[in-house]
Amino acid sequence: MAQEIWVATHNRDKFKEIRELLKGTPLEVHGAFELPHYSPPAENGKTFQENAQIKAKSLKAMKPEAWVLSDDSGLEVKALDNLPGVHSARYAGPTARDIENTSKLLKHLAMRAAGDNRQAQFKCVLCLISPTGEEKFFDGVLSGTISKDMRGKTGFGYDPVFIPENETKTIAELGIAVKNKLSHRAQALKQAVAFLSSL
Ligand code: IMP
Repeated sequence: MAQEIWVATHNRDKFKEIRELLKGTPLEVHGAFELPHYSPPAENGKTFQENAQIKAKSLKAMKPEAWVLSDDSGLEVKALDNLPGVHSARYAGPTARDIENTSKLLKHLAMRAAGDNRQAQFKCVLCLISPTGEEKFFDGVLSGTISKDMRGKTGFGYDPVFIPENETKTIAELGIAVKNKLSHRAQALKQAVAFLSSL
């Protein structure tokens, strides 16, 4: 029977990306949303690493014999003092939808005197916990700029306003196949897959 890896996320879009990128391993991939009695912990860490660890540990308590993987990620915008950062999912409020977070971001950036500085980066930190409880972290960064308006239909979160370095289209216009080659999450997962393959 294949060994299982449980991914600590209820974000189905994120899960799909992670599952696709884990195809290089023999692990059977499951999501936390399959566990009816599991509720995600409060993400009250100050850094992506802290939040990734909080999520992975809480799922590990439910699945002590499996591999567990969590992802904490977000967008840092230079002219907004690196906000929304760890608050990316809740930028426009605790239950905000992607469109509300993204609209708020465009509005705030337009209001800034330095609004012509649209530099930003996506960050991702993964926390992987082995069946015997060893923790490992992997990270990835994708640099780019924030577009003036929302463009494109694929992906999630801030994808419609993020233009990766050396591209002219937003991630939502570039599509999932391109995103999964260059994203912050893809970079971190490549390292995690290399680690898992080396065992
Ligand atoms: P988390 O689930 O607490 O890690 O929140 C991550 C949030 O950061 C998401 O809800 C998005 O708003 C944003 N984010 C992280 N990764 C991406 C991405 O690949 N594309 C677009 N937005 C992202």
